[in-house]
Amino acid sequence: SQSNRNAKLVLLGDMGTGKSSLVLRFVKGQFLEFQESTIGAAFFSQTVSVNNATVKFEIWDTAGQERYHSLAPMYYRGAAAAIIVYDITNSDSFARAKKWVLELQKQGNPNLVMALAGNKCDLEDKRTVTAEEARAYAEENGLFFVETSAKTAVNVNEIFYEIAKRLPTT
Ligand code: GDP
Ligand code: MG
Repeated sequence: SQSNRNAKLVLLGDMGTGKSSLVLRFVKGQFLEFQESTIGAAFFSQTVSVNNATVKFEIWDTAGQERYHSLAPMYYRGAAAAIIVYDITNSDSFARAKKWVLELQKQGNPNLVMALAGNKCDLEDKRTVTAEEARAYAEENGLFFVETSAKTAVNVNEIFYEIAKRLPTT
């Protein structure tokens, strides 16, 4: 049957990993080499269709800097979904992503659909985080995992579509 739902979604992860770029790619189909840093958080919305349903994502793109950490619960509280983003060329950003996962497991909505995005997969020659280690980590923690590129658009629509499919239907 037809159903139309709204779902709050938050993007978390280190500054510079490409959160805003993923949102810009998903919402507007664009990419900027010099994407401006997010201050506080930014809001976007975009609708996807899955089967006979539409999901309108209400997207909170957070800043990622440590000094804004205390604001994060405002964005993930009540969220139906979270995308935790790291940069495949930056091991520190992967370590930071794991900390976000822990925080969400402790403080987030228990039915939260979590996705792990290894972004900048177009930069294969600069890779420091293997897909295998990230996939193993994601499996252990019940996360959906893909590598993405906001630059080339690889897996960007797919990650939102997969999240929409995984949302509880009631
Ligand atoms: P945020 O701080 O997590 O929101 O990261 P931004 O979206 O501001 O991106 C930080 C920088 O990385 C910008 O210069 C982007 O152009 C660049 N960037 C973002 N995504 C990608 C990607 O998939 N591939 C490449 N090569 N660069 C990216
Ligand atoms: Mg940003």
